[in-house]
Amino acid sequence: MNPRNFSLRWRHAACLFLIGSISLISSVTFSQESDVGVPFEILGKTMGPIAYKVTIADHPESISPTDLQERVAEVLENVNQLMSTYQPDSDVSRFNRTASTEFQNVDPKTAAVVARAIEISKLTDGAFDITVGPAVNLWDFGPKNLNFTIPSVAQTDAIKSSIGYQFLEVQLDPPAIRKSVSGVNIDLSAIAKGYAVDQVATALDRLGCRNFLVEVGGEVFARGQRFSGGKWRIGVERPNDAGVSLSKIAEISNQAMATSGDYRNFHESMGKRYSHTIDPKTCRPVEHTLASACIISKDCMTADALATAIMVMGKDRGQKLCKEVGADYLLVERESDFGDTLTEFISESFPLFNPPQPKNSPTIVEEILPVFIGAALIFGLVIISMSVGAIFAKKPITGSCGGLANQTNEDGETTCGICSKPTTDCVEKNA
Ligand code: ADP
Ligand code: MG
Repeated sequence: MNPRNFSLRWRHAACLFLIGSISLISSVTFSQESDVGVPFEILGKTMGPIAYKVTIADHPESISPTDLQERVAEVLENVNQLMSTYQPDSDVSRFNRTASTEFQNVDPKTAAVVARAIEISKLTDGAFDITVGPAVNLWDFGPKNLNFTIPSVAQTDAIKSSIGYQFLEVQLDPPAIRKSVSGVNIDLSAIAKGYAVDQVATALDRLGCRNFLVEVGGEVFARGQRFSGGKWRIGVERPNDAGVSLSKIAEISNQAMATSGDYRNFHESMGKRYSHTIDPKTCRPVEHTLASACIISKDCMTADALATAIMVMGKDRGQKLCKEVGADYLLVERESDFGDTLTEFISESFPLFNPPQPKNSPTIVEEILPVFIGAALIFGLVIISMSVGAIFAKKPITGSCGGLANQTNEDGETTCGICSKPTTDCVEKNA
């Protein structure tokens, strides 16, 4: 090997090694910095399998990332401990076990959620009703989740007498709830997730965070701005069974968004879909064609409950309710139980984000066409001018040797000889 090449290769290898080492060091430094940097993300699971994600765009220096993480987990665990039907010692489970019609003491948070649930029941004419618990269990969407069989009419009739928000009473001070009929059970699944989101948001506000996004199982609250500026962008899922796909993107700030649908949690029997949303009036899964309801509201507890209520009320009543309460909506209707023909209904002021469309690069034909047209025009003009000249001068068009006649070879001869029909004029001129 050429010694010069050898030394060049060594220098090249040394350079690569040096560059590699620097990039390795900088990537380590970056990842260490990103632990406390922005945007800072907290991920975890709550209420059983439900995933949560908190994105903090401006991490306050007064609190360490670990403390922030612990605070978020603590808030979520607290809501779960109080409101889960899966936790035997939760306020909800204790209340469901008792047949007593006396006030039962509960945590102030549980009382606040039950109070809001009753307000939303009144607002939705009972479409939202946390006393659907027995029907949820009967249709096998409850904590036991055994083996789905379609309940008989006698079974659904039997539980109707214990379903109705009118059988519930709540007092805030001291916090307590009461059932007026012994068999009443409550299920906060359609409001607790939204409440948990609000609780995390309140905790982050208190810790001095100004720009963050909280998401628990698809329900979100957005505060302030994204890390790169502008409102937070939230994707709304397209409710099909083939897999998750994005339908639309909403841009929100200081607002909450919640979505209910029949596309994730449902039973199927003999080609029919049974939704986990129960119509409290029939004690059966809802039957209409609404596949999902996405609602934007000031707080997530309200958005969560309204989304479920609208799944019960259907498209027309749902749209009317949203207009009344000033909530934006994106409702999706499905043509048939397992069909993929979906129709969207969006409120006028729904904050849709329209990503700028990338400009398509021109095709080869588009690139060549103007040049071709230009050349054809020039060519056409030349032909026309020559024809006009020939017509007016009344002379035949003769060929040209392109000035070659002026050139002579080594022997002093012109190139007129190569012309097949040299005119006398031409030969004489160039002689
Ligand atoms: P998701 O869990 O997809 O957000 P929802 O917020 O709509 O869904 O909550 C659905 C759950 O709420 C059901 O699994 C059931 O436990 C409960 N539920 C069903 N129907 C009603 C209803 N009409 N009112 C209140 N809660 C309901
Ligand atoms: Mg919900």
